[in-house]
Amino acid sequence: MHIFINGRFYSEKDANISVFDHGFLYGDGIFETLRAYNGKVFKIDEHMERLFHSARLAKLKIPLAKKQLKSAIIFTIKKNKLKEAYIRLTISRGKGELGYTTKSNPNIIIIARPFIKYPKNVHEKGVPIITYDGGRVLPEVKSTSCIPLVLAKSEAAEKGCFDAILIDRDGFVTEGTVSNVFFVKNNIIYTPKEGILKGITREIVISMAKKTLKVKEATIKKSQICSFDECFLTNTSGEIIPVSKINDKKINAPGAMTAKLMKEFEKEVESYYAKRH
Ligand code: PLP
Repeated sequence: MHIFINGRFYSEKDANISVFDHGFLYGDGIFETLRAYNGKVFKIDEHMERLFHSARLAKLKIPLAKKQLKSAIIFTIKKNKLKEAYIRLTISRGKGELGYTTKSNPNIIIIARPFIKYPKNVHEKGVPIITYDGGRVLPEVKSTSCIPLVLAKSEAAEKGCFDAILIDRDGFVTEGTVSNVFFVKNNIIYTPKEGILKGITREIVISMAKKTLKVKEATIKKSQICSFDECFLTNTSGEIIPVSKINDKKINAPGAMTAKLMKEFEKEVESYYAKRH
């Protein structure tokens, strides 16, 4: 594997950064997870927009322009001879004195590995999830501080579940540990509007769904979960993942609306590439 660090490639063994990097010391960094289909990165511009939004909110000055970062990502995929790829771009605050500061000396790291598909059952039968009381501090920042997410995911795993959806202090549903969450009732699609990362897949699903269905970005109470007919998670790697159970509540998965959106999403990916190449 060839790992990109600040403009050079390193083997896995030699890809190291300082123990004084504030990403390591304080979880002070931002990241993006991207996916390439057939050697081309999906929605790369949208990922760059979100990365720079995270950077602005975290007061982290990225030393490269969007165009340069895009080239670095594309070059890393090529260097690793990948077609279907999972790409993790990390920008840490960088090396500095001990102590909190927004002074930045960022390390830019790109790891690209072959994309590993979820087992078929995930999309065909849906996944069980739990609710978890907790969440991220600055939800719009895709930050490397992930302890609450690690705890939520591990509680889900202990309970034999795929993932957890997070419930904030006021009892509102926010998002999954690495995904956004949607619900369906009476042909209306609901998704939390606040306290979330603005998922790129979420945006695609909302605009796709709006063509034929009513979509409500709303506040959703944990206590409302039982009343929904369908539920699904969205993210770059899994696209649309139907949910078959939330805590003890069983759900038909994939429900009719979820299945329809899953099909439409496939077409969306095709048309994205058809428009560009
Ligand atoms: N919410 C969180 C906390 C995430 O980490 C992610 C993706 O990693 C998402 C939502 C979904 O975002 P996207 O659809 O851009 O992958």
